[in-house]
Amino acid sequence: MTKIKRVLVSGGAGFIGSHLCKRLIDDGCYVICLDNLFTGSKRNIASLMNHPNFEFVEHDVTIPYEVDVDEIYNLACPASPIHYQYDPIKTIKTSFLGALHMLGIAKRCNAKILQASTSEVYGDPEVHPQMESYWGNVNPVGYRSCYDEGKRCAETLFMDYHRQHGIRIKVVRIFNTYGPNMLPNDGRVISNFVLQALRNEDITIYGTGDQTRSFQYVDDLIEGMVKMMATEDDFIGPVNLGNPREFTIRQLAQKVIEQTGSSSKLIYKPLPHDDPQQRRPNIALAQEKLVWQPLVPLEIGLERIIAYFRETEGL
Ligand code: NAD
Ligand code: UDP
Repeated sequence: MTKIKRVLVSGGAGFIGSHLCKRLIDDGCYVICLDNLFTGSKRNIASLMNHPNFEFVEHDVTIPYEVDVDEIYNLACPASPIHYQYDPIKTIKTSFLGALHMLGIAKRCNAKILQASTSEVYGDPEVHPQMESYWGNVNPVGYRSCYDEGKRCAETLFMDYHRQHGIRIKVVRIFNTYGPNMLPNDGRVISNFVLQALRNEDITIYGTGDQTRSFQYVDDLIEGMVKMMATEDDFIGPVNLGNPREFTIRQLAQKVIEQTGSSSKLIYKPLPHDDPQQRRPNIALAQEKLVWQPLVPLEIGLERIIAYFRETEGL
């Protein structure tokens, strides 16, 4: 009989983590979901709670934890600017200490470990589109630094555990991702715009709306993460996971209005500090090494998240 794979997912009750836990259970793994429920919720994992191969542990990753597992996905960290700037010291502690503690588990039980890094490591990029070889343009002392520098430092720690202790690591840099299980008060652009449109409220564009982002549907990301974990040990990344179709924020607002049939108007608010002007992944490395590319176009993904918020928010 083959041994069932034991997988730890930190941040497993969050938006991306909950989709990942479900996918791993469907793949036949035993999943231990570690989360302090800061931005995650039991609602996201309600359908898994009674599954015999699923365990939820309420735990803060800034405190060490012991468990025996074969693989670790390290996702614990608030990802929305509103949430990560709420308690910036806690955010940087979560990024650094969380990575340290998860790497400690990986070292003790020789587990393979994947870090959920971010396109924010490129900061406000001066190279476009962003390739993994680009070192980035990050403000180390700004309001976004607790997140950006926390994630950069976590990448450093992963690389050093690999070089110094031979730990089998994988680093993925995730670009803007959206889908069901995002919090309604998340503050990120797609959840904000969809909810504003469904309520026929003003749509809040920060700045001129000429800044760009590239939006990836969560199912595409999960496929990329699982494929990355399954690569040979000599491929460690970092590798970009994102959808290279780029939109201005104003174009996004117009699409959301169109697809919801909303009567909302656009209003303009000040641009947050250090808001990146352009963002688009170069995904050639993921295409080559993972034989992966995003399959869900923005229009289809928007339909799904609109349907999700209509149902969960009663709109
Ligand atoms: P999220 O906020 O929904 O999920 C983060 C989860 O981590 C939550 O369940 C939260 O409760 C948990 N958490 C936070 N601090 C913790 C702590 N100290 N101890 C234990 N659990 C803690 O965000 P998400 O969008 O699902 O992001 C998941 C991961 O992916 C994050 O590491 C984020 O940086 C990364 N990422 C996400 C995106 C995106 O667009 N969604 C982009 C780049 C990177
Ligand atoms: N944004 C906006 N209105 C909102 C929320 C966000 O115009 O209600 C903008 C934000 O300034 C940024 C982009 O949308 O330029 C993406 O913001 P988000 O917080 O989703 O992600 P990030 O800035 O981390 O990429």
